[in-house]
Amino acid sequence: MIRVALLGATGSIGASALAIAREFRDRIRLVSLAAGSKDEALVAAAEEFGVSRIALGDPAAASRARRSFRGEVGEGIPGVDALASDPEADVVVNALVGSAGLDATVTALRSGKRVALANKESVVVAGELLAALAERHGGRILPVDSEHGGLHQCLLERDPASVRRVILTASGGPFLRRDLATLGRATPEEVLRHPTWSMGARITVDSATLVNKGFEIIEARWLFGIEPARIEVLIHPQSIAHGLVEFIDGSVIAQLSCPDMRLPLLYALSFPERWESSLPRLDLARLGSLEFETPEPARSPGLALARRALERGGTTPAVLNAADEEAVRLFLQGSIGFTDLTRLVDEVLEEHVPAGPLSLESIAAADRWARARLADLAAPRARR
Ligand code: NAD
Ligand code: MG
Repeated sequence: MIRVALLGATGSIGASALAIAREFRDRIRLVSLAAGSKDEALVAAAEEFGVSRIALGDPAAASRARRSFRGEVGEGIPGVDALASDPEADVVVNALVGSAGLDATVTALRSGKRVALANKESVVVAGELLAALAERHGGRILPVDSEHGGLHQCLLERDPASVRRVILTASGGPFLRRDLATLGRATPEEVLRHPTWSMGARITVDSATLVNKGFEIIEARWLFGIEPARIEVLIHPQSIAHGLVEFIDGSVIAQLSCPDMRLPLLYALSFPERWESSLPRLDLARLGSLEFETPEPARSPGLALARRALERGGTTPAVLNAADEEAVRLFLQGSIGFTDLTRLVDEVLEEHVPAGPLSLESIAAADRWARARLADLAAPRARR
């Protein structure tokens, strides 16, 4: 029986994690649950799974939960954090979104836990630090990103010196074939209509700008210790082949599965075992063909942004993440246009002077600076 703390239980990945816990009740026991502000959904999940410890990031939601829930209710970042070091939990599933997820990843690794990590932002901003923390305290990160879950399966037990390159696939998002001249007018509704994956709002917007794929380059850099020059991205509209590894002899191993986040979650929880599941099976004959193409730079500004952030290093990836998080928020509320989003992030990135050495404090400072700077730069463009 593995005992799991699930952070971000009310989100898209959270729902997948609950589904896996439901299917594998004999192997997974949820011991604590956290979310931001959806107290009703969180309490309902806690009751369904007999969980007695919950936390809500939003204090008002925590007060409401205290009236309806019999167990312990933590609040704010400290409340969520406390669950990440819960001695009752062997594994922390971090499905929080954005910068808010970093503290929990750090706390869980400091407690020597296995972290099934969906919150890629943690690795983007602090990859270097997390690897060291895992090493020092005996914890480990297993990725809950389909591409990295795939790469992990292809790379297993193989000597890193035998790898020539790794390939991450991207669906291309909703604007793969859209007339470039009209991209600036793309609305939040259009951006949120992802062709192959149903996900939370931020990652869906990041998939349209390819910032998400850029983040995944950074994620692969730190999770697998592969230099950026050997990490490639291919557009693959069907989202069936998730991660591919080319070895030095020319052989390529790929991981294929239906686009369903329950599988990378299940793999991160069951590893090194495999558990028989009822997840949708791949029918290649029915699919008929799998296509791959090189990303067009004009449709994938996020890739160049991420490569530049990695090159400059230090706090630059934290600036990329925070500026993007803020720009996505402004775009979704209708304050800036779709093409402004990455243009503004680019401007903030260009102004940043990386402060070394990398620490949780310098990351937090860079994060605050980037948000404020992005808001300043966006103000004159904000539509009224
Ligand atoms: P989501 O917006 O659907 O859910 C986010 C969850 O985090 C919710 O439960 C929300 O309540 C909680 N949360 C947000 N702010 C919080 C705070 N301050 N304190 C406590 N809880 C807070 O997001 P998602 O799509 O499930 O994505 C979660 C993470 O997984 C992201 O890092 C994303 O990049 C990554 N990811 C998602 C997918 C996917 O298919 N959705 C795929 C790969 C990676
Ligand atoms: Mg992914």
